[in-house]
Amino acid sequence: MTHQDLSIIQLIAQASLIVQLVMLLLMFLSLASWTVIFGKFFGLGRVRGLNEEFEREFWSGRNLHDLYHLASDNPRKGGPMERIFASGMREFLKLRERRVDAEITVVSPRNELVYLPSLIWLPSGEKTGADLRIPLAGFFERMRVRWHPGSVQQVLDGGRRVVTDTGELANDVLVIATGGRYLRKLPGIEHALIPCEGIASAEAIRDRLATMEGGTIAIGFASNPKEPGAVRGGPMFEFLFGIDTLLRRQGRRDKFRLVFFNPSKEPGQRLGPSAVQKMLARMRALGIETHLGHKPVRFEAGKVVTEGGEIPADLILFMPGLTGPAWLDDSELPRSEGGFIAADAQCRARGMDHVYVAGDIGSYPGPDWMAKQAHQADLQAEAVAKNIAAGLRGEPADHGFKTELACIVDSLDGGLLVYRSESRTFTSPNSRLLHWLKRRFEDRYLKVYR
Ligand SMILES: Cc1cc2nc3c(=O)[nH]c(=O)nc-3n(C[C@H](O)[C@H](O)[C@H](O)COP(=O)(O)OP(=O)(O)OC[C@H]3O[C@@H](n4cnc5c(N)ncnc54)[C@H](O)[C@@H]3O)c2cc1C
Repeated sequence: MTHQDLSIIQLIAQASLIVQLVMLLLMFLSLASWTVIFGKFFGLGRVRGLNEEFEREFWSGRNLHDLYHLASDNPRKGGPMERIFASGMREFLKLRERRVDAEITVVSPRNELVYLPSLIWLPSGEKTGADLRIPLAGFFERMRVRWHPGSVQQVLDGGRRVVTDTGELANDVLVIATGGRYLRKLPGIEHALIPCEGIASAEAIRDRLATMEGGTIAIGFASNPKEPGAVRGGPMFEFLFGIDTLLRRQGRRDKFRLVFFNPSKEPGQRLGPSAVQKMLARMRALGIETHLGHKPVRFEAGKVVTEGGEIPADLILFMPGLTGPAWLDDSELPRSEGGFIAADAQCRARGMDHVYVAGDIGSYPGPDWMAKQAHQADLQAEAVAKNIAAGLRGEPADHGFKTELACIVDSLDGGLLVYRSESRTFTSPNSRLLHWLKRRFEDRYLKVYR
């Protein structure tokens, strides 16, 4: 130890406590700075090494999908360049999933969409038929979809040939979504109006109500005995409650008898037990009579005849069960008991290649409460789109769909929210807010097509 070293130590030892503390702090800061400097130096070296290693792999001609899987399997181990590549590739794959490079042709008699759920507001005049018809020419143009005006009459050659009344079309992938058909088997069905059939029927109810001065209105629905899920009950509750509200608004409810009839003692079970109880309680509260547990046998002018007696009626609104469209009879497609296209859990027509089914026309595996609803049709359509995209990329088409029932049972001045999934069943109390929510939903839903 030199004389000078000694003097530095002596100087420190003889310094005041404050000076010693400041020197200690300076020493600590100096150590911390050197630690950071060395850390960065080695860190940057490691990063440079990882980047160089990734660049070598990238330019070696290795498959990009393999590289992506490696990068996303070990996100912490990779360098920055590898992580940037992984997130770019992820976005690219997402985009590619949505936009497959294929020509799309839609076959339909008209290039317009009729928004069926709002038919319930035609009898009261809250909506007109014109409000519910959405022209699709602009939408088709934006989505680069070719429209083939015509009606499908047959599907042949394992799905590859579609015969329409305006010519034949060949395809590599076929999606069938032409909806269901109402069973018109009950004798005298011509004496009943089928409100769900479309704008003309719902407007006919409006016109009949306007000319009636009083009397009995009988409203009911039934299902397809061979496929009990093929039923459209929710909208019939809506027509019933809507007509009740309308007559009250007009101050003439007391001149009418409203009778709800159904073959089941618990109508609308698919909506869940609490929804049925709430709707029956609401009928009692509104003075709506019920005729339940008796199968309708026939309709006659002025009456509904059921196995349990007759209901005299000046106006009959009846929703029969659903079945598949008549054109299926001449096609080579698998059929379910109830006359729909038999599909699997991935919405593929059973036993056929590249033939998909979405919406009311299909019969799918799942719980017995699976509804023929637009919401369910949307979930199926999403699975179909994903499966087609996967198929075009040569990947397995194994996307399924969630079974979910969601609707607002509207009554013109309020509504009940009904929700059902594999894990939950829920019915809200009646609320005015839900009526407005249903109206807002229509605007939002149709925005994409307008
Ligand atoms: C009054 C009412 C209220 C409803 N309320 C609700 C609700 O609140 N929530 C809900 O989720 N669902 C509701 N639904 C049910 C919903 O509307 C249907 O489940 C849904 O429309 C089914 O869609 P889809 O595409 O399968 O059939 P559809 O909507 O019937 O569409 C079928 C399409 O195929 C076309 N087409 C028919 N035959 C041919 C052919 N041979 N060739 C070419 N094209 C053809 C038709 O022109 C139509 O455009 C309601 C239905 C009604 C009637």
